Amino acid sequence: MYELLATKFFLNTLQTASLTAFEKSCVSTALNEAEIHMGSNVFQFKYWPNFAHYLCGGWLEEYTYLRLQSLVKAGWIKDIRIGLEVSFKEDHPDNVSLGYREQLSSLFGDTYQELDIAFTDGRRLYVIECKAGNVNSEHVMKLQNIVRYKQELPNWLAAIPEEYKQLRLFHYANTGSTRHRLLALSKCASILARLHSAGLVYGDISPENVFVGDGDSREVWLIDADNLRFEMSEGDNAVYTPHYGAPEIVQGHDQSRPRTDCWTFAVMAFRTLALCHPFIGKKVLEPDNDEGGWDAEPSADSVHADLDEQAYAGYLPFIDDDNDNTNADVSALPRELVATPKIRRLFQETFGAGRKQPHRRPAMAFWALELAKASDQSLNCPDCAMSYFADRHKKCPYCGAPRPAFAHAKTPRWEVLIPANATEFALTHRLFNPFSFEHNDDTEYEAVLDFTKKTAQPVRGTNPFPSDLSFEFVEAEK
Ligand SMILES: [Zn+2]
Repeated sequence: MYELLATKFFLNTLQTASLTAFEKSCVSTALNEAEIHMGSNVFQFKYWPNFAHYLCGGWLEEYTYLRLQSLVKAGWIKDIRIGLEVSFKEDHPDNVSLGYREQLSSLFGDTYQELDIAFTDGRRLYVIECKAGNVNSEHVMKLQNIVRYKQELPNWLAAIPEEYKQLRLFHYANTGSTRHRLLALSKCASILARLHSAGLVYGDISPENVFVGDGDSREVWLIDADNLRFEMSEGDNAVYTPHYGAPEIVQGHDQSRPRTDCWTFAVMAFRTLALCHPFIGKKVLEPDNDEGGWDAEPSADSVHADLDEQAYAGYLPFIDDDNDNTNADVSALPRELVATPKIRRLFQETFGAGRKQPHRRPAMAFWALELAKASDQSLNCPDCAMSYFADRHKKCPYCGAPRPAFAHAKTPRWEVLIPANATEFALTHRLFNPFSFEHNDDTEYEAVLDFTKKTAQPVRGTNPFPSDLSFEFVEAEK
C-alpha cells in the first residue's frame, strides 16, 4: 500500500486515456493466497494473507492510523488503538432495570464489535469508522493501469523478469514519465521556496499533500496547509508523514524548519523519480549479504532496532552516497536516466552531507531551478511513453527506439526542447527572464513550428519573438 500512496502523486497526470468500466471482486483463496477479478482478467497474488479484507478497506484503517501518528507524536492524542475489539451483550436492552453487577457482566458477552480506530485526547473518546467505498478517479486509474498492463504488456517491459517492476514502470510511463514528474516537482519546489522566503515552514510535505492538475493542466497545489507555520527557534512543532521526516525530527532533536522541508521534499522527489526510497538499499533489503550488519552504524540504538526504521530515521547511508556504498540501491530506476548531474548533486548534498549536517541541504530555490531545466531537456519516446534526456541518448534507453526529431528553443538564459509532434508550443517566462518562482511557467510567447521546413514563428496576431531567441532543429535518428 505504501507504493500505492507514493505513486498517487502522479495519478492525476495520466494522459487523457478514456476509462472503461470494469467489475472487481476479490477472494481469499487460502491463508496466504489471493485473487482479484476484473472483467475477464484474474490476477493472483501469493503470500498475502487477508488480502480480501485488506483490499476491501483494511488498508484505509492502516492509512488513517498512520496519518494520526503525527498527532500522537505531537502529544495531542494520548492513546490510540486500531481494530479494537469491544465485547458486549445485546440481550439486555433495558440496563436500567439491572443491578450494578448485572450491568457490568452484560458488558462482557460473547458478541463483539470492532472499532476501526479509537483514541482519546485525555478528555473524550474518539471513534473513526473507515469506509473505503468512496473510490475516486485516482483509484480507478491505478486499477485501470493494472488491467491495461495485463492486456497490452509492451515488449520493452516483457524483458524485465519481475512482474511488480513491470507494473510499476508501466504505471510510470502512463502517468507522464520523468518529464512530467520533473516539471510538477519543480512547481512544488517553487511554492516551497516562496513559503520559505516568507519565513514559513510547510511541515508535512508528502505525495498525499501535493495535487497535480489533470490532463494538460500544469498546475500544482499543496493541500492540507494545517501545519503551515512560521519558523520558531524552539517549541514542539514537528509533524511529518512516516518515511518523509528529516532525521533530526524523527530522532527527536529538532522541529520543522525550512531545512527539514528541504529534506522531506527531496525524499518525495527521489521516490517520485526513481521509484525507490533514498535510504532503502541493500543494508535493509539484503541484510544477510551485508557483512557490516545493521549495527555498523554507531548511532543506531535499541529504539531503532528495525533496519527499515533505522533507514527512515536517517541512521543508514543514502543509497547513492558518494563515500559509502554499504547501503547501495538494489531496485530503483537508474538515476542517470531520471535526474541530471546537477539534480543528482542536490540529492547527494541533501542525503549525503545533509543527513547529519542539516545546514548542508540545498535550499528549495536550487531544486525549483534544476528540476525545471531537467524537464525542459527531456523528450518523450513515442514508442514506449517513457522520457529521457535527449542530449545524452540517440536511442530510447528503455525500449531502444531511435530518438525522434526535436527542436531546441534557446536564449542566453535558458533552453527548452520541443518535440516534433508539437505544432504549437508555449515558450515560457523562464526562457526570457530571471527565474521567477511565481511566473517561470507562464506563457510568454506562442510558437508555431514546421519541422519539415524547419521554421518557427509566433502564433498569428501575437508579439514578435525577441532577437536573442533562436531555434535549432535536430533530425530523427535512424
Ligand atoms: Zn522508448
